[in-house]
Amino acid sequence: QVLFHLGEMVTATQSVSEDVLELLGTEMNYKVQVVSPEEEDRELLESFDITYGESTGGEEALEARPPVVTVMGHVDHGKTRLLDTIRKANVAEGEAGGITQHIGAYQVKTELEGNERLITFIDTPGHEAFTAMRARGAQATDIAVIVVAADDGVMPQTVEAINHAQAANVPIVVAVNKIDKEGANPAKIRQQLTEYGLVAEEYGGDTMFVDISAKQNINIDGLLEAILLTADAALDLRANPKMEAQGVAIEAHLDRGRGPVATVLVQRGSLRVGDSIVAGDAYGRVRRMVDEYNDDVTVALPSRPVQVIGFTSVPGAGDTFLVVDEDRVARQIAERRQARTRNAQNAAKFKRYSLEDLDSA
Ligand code: GDP
Ligand code: MG
Repeated sequence: QVLFHLGEMVTATQSVSEDVLELLGTEMNYKVQVVSPEEEDRELLESFDITYGESTGGEEALEARPPVVTVMGHVDHGKTRLLDTIRKANVAEGEAGGITQHIGAYQVKTELEGNERLITFIDTPGHEAFTAMRARGAQATDIAVIVVAADDGVMPQTVEAINHAQAANVPIVVAVNKIDKEGANPAKIRQQLTEYGLVAEEYGGDTMFVDISAKQNINIDGLLEAILLTADAALDLRANPKMEAQGVAIEAHLDRGRGPVATVLVQRGSLRVGDSIVAGDAYGRVRRMVDEYNDDVTVALPSRPVQVIGFTSVPGAGDTFLVVDEDRVARQIAERRQARTRNAQNAAKFKRYSLEDLDSA
């Protein structure tokens, strides 16, 4: 009614802009504050004295962590094959059997200038996973490897992947794949990609291009080296390993024997067996952690992906997680988030019904 008098023709269940809400508030003597879901969540955590998203302890507390890499590119250009080849070629010492389970991410050991280094790969190729996580405010990826088949060239999803990486401010390494194939033209790929702001180092730019064959296992080490060089040149990858763990859930499902199982990527802090944990609107106590070799893990440091058993329900892929002091706090945060989700769903339902009512009127 008030809005009608103000000349705003809206129905009771229609969404209105912030400005209109504020106007309505002024008119009715309320102070209206519009809060985004992100802000609301930050306030929720603050009410428990928790800040999510940054290492605590200042500069001195920071220690180097491995880069986290996502592989993107056009369909059939070799993303899955590349992730498989890297996984097989770089089995950690003492793990003769190799990686035994897909948990959504894995780490490989490699060498750069005589130093042993780790790289974390997110094992679900494609920009869907990448954007889903970003949409939830979790930036899991440090570097994007864009795979381009040398016999096919730059395709629509190549461009899309580049756009996503650039929008997220994530440096790109280009893997020019399938160089074993007849008709492969790696120079043409370099040429094509200049149009998208990716100029190869050898042409005076600052993007590393690496010619590989995922199928024939050619120059995979060169690619890993390029990833580390790009990380060292462009990024300051450090985190405080001594705080309570925070990060993101990469994958989660309900396992028949083990219950809810979630692969989380630790982004800062150390995740330990026994920790009270909350991921999105799921919570629990870390009963057990296993890695991609199905070995038990007692402490997971920053950039380490690990499968967590002990949630009471299944978190969503892309949900952020954090460790809290007490089970009670984890439960309360999860319940408050559940309530919020329910409210949003109810509001959406209500809106749908009303619009239908209007239609039939
Ligand atoms: P994705 O859709 O990007 O995940 O592509 P896949 O990894 O499934 O690869 C698509 C096809 O290309 C498969 O048949 C692979 O075996 C093949 N392939 C991938 N990498 C190479 C390569 O380096 N050389 C050749 N000749 N074939 C490859
Ligand atoms: Mg694939």
